[in-house]
Amino acid sequence: MGRLRRKKMHKGDKPLKEKYRTKRRTKDFDEIHEDMKPSNAEALLNQELDLDKPGGAQHYCLHCTKYFIGPRALADHFKSKPHKRRIKALQVEPYSQEEAERAAGMGSYIAPKTVEVRTQDAKENMQVETVEGT
Ligand SMILES: [Zn+2]
Repeated sequence: MGRLRRKKMHKGDKPLKEKYRTKRRTKDFDEIHEDMKPSNAEALLNQELDLDKPGGAQHYCLHCTKYFIGPRALADHFKSKPHKRRIKALQVEPYSQEEAERAAGMGSYIAPKTVEVRTQDAKENMQVETVEGT
């Protein structure tokens, strides 16, 4: 009954934390598209003061699902690379049931290649450049 030499059983093991780190996970694009619907967007952009959220949840970027601490930070964010990249990515409309039905000849088919995604209008009197392209 000799003891077998154990192989490296834990090669490549990652710390558990890393594997299950979901805290920073943001919403999926289809969820964001849902949020971008005017009825939802309205509510998200005019949230009640929530002191648990950065900036009391008063400065929210709809497209990046992020809170900012103030109008300045939000304006800066709108000009940032990650935000612009995301706007671009969001311009491709997700596949929807409605679209499928239109394609199947139920109702008039309007081909939606892209959706117009604009940085939300800034509150107050800050200057925010509009997103390039149409
Ligand atoms: Zn953003």
